[in-house]
Amino acid sequence: MTGFLGFAQLCQKVEGVSGSLEKIELVAAFLNGLEDSELAVASNFVMGVVFSASSELVMGVGPSILYEALLRSCGCPAEQISEMLRSTGDPGLVAAGVVEKRRPIGFAAFMGEMQLSIMDVYQRFLAIARASGKRSQDAKVKNLQFLFSGASALEAQYIARLAIEDMRIGVGEGGVRDSIARAFSRDAEDVERAYNLTSDMGLVAIAARKGTLLELGVMLNHPIKMMLAQLGEGIPSALDELGIAAIEWKYDGARVQIHKDKEMVRIFSRRLENVTASLPEIVRAARQIRAESAILDGEVVAIGKDGRPMAFQEILKRFRRKYNVEKLAQQIPLHLFLFDIIYLDGRSVVDLPLTERRSLLENICDPTILAPQVLSGNPDTAGEIYRRALVAGHEGLMLKNPSSIYAPGKRGKNWLKIKPVMETLDLAVIGAKWGEGRRASFLGSYRLGCMDQETGKILDVGWVATGLTDYALAEMTEMFRDLIIVQKGMEVELKAAVIFEVAYEEIQKSPNYSSGYALRFPRLVRVRDDKSLEEADTLERLVSLYRGQRGRGNSA
Ligand code: AMP
Repeated sequence: MTGFLGFAQLCQKVEGVSGSLEKIELVAAFLNGLEDSELAVASNFVMGVVFSASSELVMGVGPSILYEALLRSCGCPAEQISEMLRSTGDPGLVAAGVVEKRRPIGFAAFMGEMQLSIMDVYQRFLAIARASGKRSQDAKVKNLQFLFSGASALEAQYIARLAIEDMRIGVGEGGVRDSIARAFSRDAEDVERAYNLTSDMGLVAIAARKGTLLELGVMLNHPIKMMLAQLGEGIPSALDELGIAAIEWKYDGARVQIHKDKEMVRIFSRRLENVTASLPEIVRAARQIRAESAILDGEVVAIGKDGRPMAFQEILKRFRRKYNVEKLAQQIPLHLFLFDIIYLDGRSVVDLPLTERRSLLENICDPTILAPQVLSGNPDTAGEIYRRALVAGHEGLMLKNPSSIYAPGKRGKNWLKIKPVMETLDLAVIGAKWGEGRRASFLGSYRLGCMDQETGKILDVGWVATGLTDYALAEMTEMFRDLIIVQKGMEVELKAAVIFEVAYEEIQKSPNYSSGYALRFPRLVRVRDDKSLEEADTLERLVSLYRGQRGRGNSA
C-alpha cells in the first residue's frame, strides 16, 4: 500500500519543476512503483480527476463545502481561513496552513496522523460522491473533515486541491499519457488511442503495464472522445483538398453522444458528462432507433417558435437542469440531428469509411432525426447549402472526407468546418467583479486567463463585460457561485472551470496583465460549455496570433 504522503510529495516536486519533460519523468517513476489499483487511481489524481468520465460518479465538492470541512476540522475562526485565502488565493495552501495550526490539539491529537494510503483517500472520495439526498452536503463535509483530521499539512494541501479537482501542478491529460507511455515503455500514440476510445486513464495505465493497450476498444456505455473538426479556409480550398465531400449543415447546437443498450439509453455531452436525465425527449427519440445496441454521434438544437435555433445559452439551461426537467423541455424543446455512428450491435464501426457508416445510420434511424447529407465536389452546390444553413440561423457547413474513418479525439483535415470569419479566443474565466447599485448581487465583468503550457500556470489577459440582461446575468452569477475560491473586496477569484469564447479586435502587448498581453474591445460571444481548460486557447496560441497580426500593420 502506497501512502498518500508519497503522492503528495510527488505533487510538490512536480509543482516545483517547470519543464514538462521533468514533470513527466517524475510522474512516470512514481506510477511505475504502484500496485494496479493504486496505479488506476493515481493516474487520474495526478491530473486533478477523481473519477474518470466513464464512471458516472461526480465529486460535487465546491470551495464552500471544502472550507466548511476545514473549519470543522481545525476549530479555528472563519475569519482566519478567509484571511489566509485572501493572502494566498490557493485552497490547497489554506488547507495546509489550517492543518499545520491544528496540531497537536483536539480530535487530531487524539487520533494522531493516520498514515493515509492513496486508496484510503479514494475510498473517502467515493463516499463523498455517493452521498445523496437532503443530508448529502453534511455527509460530504464530514468525510472531508475526517481526511483533514488525519492528514499532515502537505497531504491536506493536495487532498483539498483534489476535492475540488483543481491540482495546479501543471499536469494535464497529455502529461499523464506521456508519463504512462514512459513508465511502461509504450508508444505514446497507443496510449493516446486507448484513452480516446475508453476515456478511462486508470484502465489505460493498467493495460499499458500489461502490454494490452491494443486490445482496448470502443465499449458500450463508456463515453468515447469525440471526433473534431478543423477550420477550413473556405469552400473552394476545402473542396480542392477533399475532392468529393460529404456536405452537412454545421448546426448551432450542442454535441451529444448517445449509447443505446436495448431499452437503456445514456447520453454524454461534448465534455463526456452524463446528461441523460436532462434530455428526456432525446432519450425517447433514441429508443426508436432500430438496433439492439448502438453508439451514435450528433447535435441537439433548441428550435424556437420562429423555427430558428435559440441562443446557445438556452441549450445550456437544458443540459444543466436537474429538476422540473419535463417543464423546461416544453419551453426549450430540443431536436436531434444524428450525423455519425461509432458502434452497432456488438461491434465497433470506427474503422469503416464515412460512407459505409452513413448507410448503417440511415438503415436504423428515422430521417427526422438524421442530419441531411449531400455528396458533392461542386463549389456552387456547397455554396448554396452554406447559404441556406446561414439563412436558417445555423453556423455554416461541415465538409467531411467520405472515405475517412471515425478518429476519436482527433481534430484533423477529414472534417472541415466552414463558417463566417470572426476573430475569437476561448479563454478561462478566472475572476469576476460584483456589479454596482441595482446590479450589486450580480457578477458583472469577468477576468480572463490562458494557460502557459510550459509552466502550467494560468495567466490573465484582461477583463470582459458581458452586455447581458439582468435576468441572464443572474443566471451567469449562479453558474459561478460554486466556483468562488476567494472574495477580495468587490472582486472574486474563480476556479478556472468555465470557458468564454471572446471576440476581439486586436491583441496588444500589455504590462498590466501577467500574460503580457491584452485584448482590444473584448466581447463575450458565448459560454463554451463544451470545452475544458485543457482545450481552451493557450498563451502560446495568443502569442502566435499576436505575431500573425503584424502583417496587418501592428508593431511588435
Ligand atoms: P467547433 O466547436 O467550432 O470546433 O465545431 C465542431 C462542432 O460542431 C462539433 O463538436 C459539433 O458539436 C458541431 N456540429 C454541428 N453540426 C455538425 C455536423 N454536421 N457534423 C459534425 N459536427 C457538427
